[in-house]
Amino acid sequence: MAAPHAQATQEENNIRHNWTRNQVLELFNQPFNDLLFDAQVMHRRHFNPNQVQLSTLLSIKTGACPEDCKYCPQSARYDTGLEKEKLLEIDAVIEAAKAAKASGSSRFCMGAAWRSPHDRDIPKVAHMIREVKALGLETCMTLGMLSEQQADDLAAAGLDYYNHNLDTSKEFYGEVITTRTYQDRLNTLANVRNSGMKVCAGGIVGMGEEQKDRAGLLMELANLPHHPESVPINMLVKVAGTPLADEKELDPFEFIRTIAVARLMMPKSYVRLSAGREEMNEQMQALAFMAGANSIFYCDKLLTTPNPKANSDMQLFQRLGIEPEQYQMEKTSAEQEAELHQTLLEAKTDAQFYRAS
Ligand code: SF4
Repeated sequence: MAAPHAQATQEENNIRHNWTRNQVLELFNQPFNDLLFDAQVMHRRHFNPNQVQLSTLLSIKTGACPEDCKYCPQSARYDTGLEKEKLLEIDAVIEAAKAAKASGSSRFCMGAAWRSPHDRDIPKVAHMIREVKALGLETCMTLGMLSEQQADDLAAAGLDYYNHNLDTSKEFYGEVITTRTYQDRLNTLANVRNSGMKVCAGGIVGMGEEQKDRAGLLMELANLPHHPESVPINMLVKVAGTPLADEKELDPFEFIRTIAVARLMMPKSYVRLSAGREEMNEQMQALAFMAGANSIFYCDKLLTTPNPKANSDMQLFQRLGIEPEQYQMEKTSAEQEAELHQTLLEAKTDAQFYRAS
């Protein structure tokens, strides 16, 4: 069998959807320098290594979520002292989106702590999508599970991305969440993909899972019929009052390995260095960029947990020679039509896969 290094080289132009866990573990367990080198080579094939995409995340409805995700301060089941907020008014969302754009973000992500949206909420969030898009920003939402119809409605409103994380491996999942199944999550991802929206799906590491679970998470994501365009890798933020508050630290190098393996397995996806950045020093963030991370959340708060200040991000970018990626909004209608046609074709094939899995 080819060494992982050679294997990565052979497959550099070959987007795979048939990873086995052992193959993923082989990638994880290469010498650190070999793994980072391969990941950086792969990264350079598909992206400018000195550009990072900036997203701003706003909580549009906070707390009181009926789900039991053990890491989440927004679950109504845990006493974290979080102040609940109802769905924000449209003006507050527009204000925040304008500020995000002014500070250099290209994508505006809106998150609501729902199990799934009520149908009556869809027109309100559709209004938010239209207004934010009108500012020249890409839009993303994370609202919980979506039905086919809801996904279609959000796509019709112009939503570019929908975020729904798999969180962890299939096997470890039940240790973290019991109120919705892994298959529920896959179904939502299928509804999003079939609606023509781009998929943002990743997970959280440092929740007490083993390396085989981190490998399992990346295997599930990479073996989807279409890789998520955006793959957030979160480091657990331990919030007092949540069941995972006292979880032991994950080795930072293992976090970097997870980023690098994600880059190798999903070469064309944006890999986002997401939650947990507040606790990472600059050297670790620089290593994550070297490993192939090329997107960050750029705002002072991530839904409810702290994030590095925008200023310190810009200073770090300057020191590393990194510049924010610009969003190209202006596509011709012919380009848009061709893109939509291609997405719908792929969605048809994807639908067969999801039904079969
Ligand atoms: S992660 Fe989302 S679904 Fe889970 S408790 Fe938090 S807000 Fe609810």
